[in-house]
Amino acid sequence: MIVILKHGVDGEKRDQLIQWLKHLGLGVHVSEGEYQTILGLIGDTARVDMDLIASLGIVDSVKRVTDPFKCCNRKFHPADTVVEVGGVKIGGGNFCMIAGPCSVESEEQIITVAKAVKAAGANILRGGAFKPRTSPYDFQGLKATGIELLKAAREATGLPIVTEIMSTNYLPLFEDVDIIQVGARNMQNFDMLRELGQLRKPILLKRGLANTLKELLMSAEYIMAGGNEQVILCERGIRTFDDYTRHTLDLAAVPMLRELTHLPVIVDPSHATGMARLVEPMALASAACGADGLIIEVHNDPLHALCDGAQSLRPEEYAVLADKVRRVREVVA
Ligand code: PEP
Ligand code: MN
Repeated sequence: MIVILKHGVDGEKRDQLIQWLKHLGLGVHVSEGEYQTILGLIGDTARVDMDLIASLGIVDSVKRVTDPFKCCNRKFHPADTVVEVGGVKIGGGNFCMIAGPCSVESEEQIITVAKAVKAAGANILRGGAFKPRTSPYDFQGLKATGIELLKAAREATGLPIVTEIMSTNYLPLFEDVDIIQVGARNMQNFDMLRELGQLRKPILLKRGLANTLKELLMSAEYIMAGGNEQVILCERGIRTFDDYTRHTLDLAAVPMLRELTHLPVIVDPSHATGMARLVEPMALASAACGADGLIIEVHNDPLHALCDGAQSLRPEEYAVLADKVRRVREVVA
């Protein structure tokens, strides 16, 4: 349920109403917009007398929200959420360019790629240290060392870093990581989402391989219900019957999610397509359809990459892409 307050209401009366609603056992999410304040009520609102609340002098209107997702719902929070990390803003018209290798392989590799993507216009560095691989015999990532090398690359370039967590047992290692990624395979690891909800650090939540948008939003809700409101959603392709591409990039998810939620929505055309030559066209399409950013795999030597070389761009290809993305954004602005 949402309670829309009249413009310019007295702060004391507003706080009294919030206290009273809390006494009813409800969570109250306050969204202060330029023109209106919205109280989002979370919990068992069936017992709340809507007519009574609507009759209060400071209340403009009361509406029931039937969607199961509340904190991330745009009805609760009409303005775009802007996630801020290391001086970089994501959402609300701020476009992020996240780039870097699938996995951190060595100090030389990550620092070379970090410098190259920064020069091309990337503003956040990616790199996997804990890799969710289909085969247990494949390279699993450098783990703690990988995170240390990412920090060294941040030191060398000033780029904030994002890397994936696979178990909260390793949470202490992520203390100094700027954005924690929850990969597609862990999108519904609810215990992990709850723990990440206790942090006050941005979480990049990737859509599961076979999950609906509602399920993605419910996973964001797990994080936000704990009080961590800095969630970035990522469309990275889903499983369909076609197998020419690695996954099927669901680009309609972008405008749909932007309607449903105030959270930033970014696109990963690398994992979605699995093919380097398809990354640029899908990146441009993502920028054109309203994405708040891109996460793209870039490697200095894709032929010898330990993971996902086939979908990795060379730095010079990424630079061309980044320039075209800028131009597409200017056109659609
Ligand atoms: C990744 O970004 O490194 C990754 C494994 O992505 P996804 O979880 O989307 O497969
Ligand atoms: Mn990868």
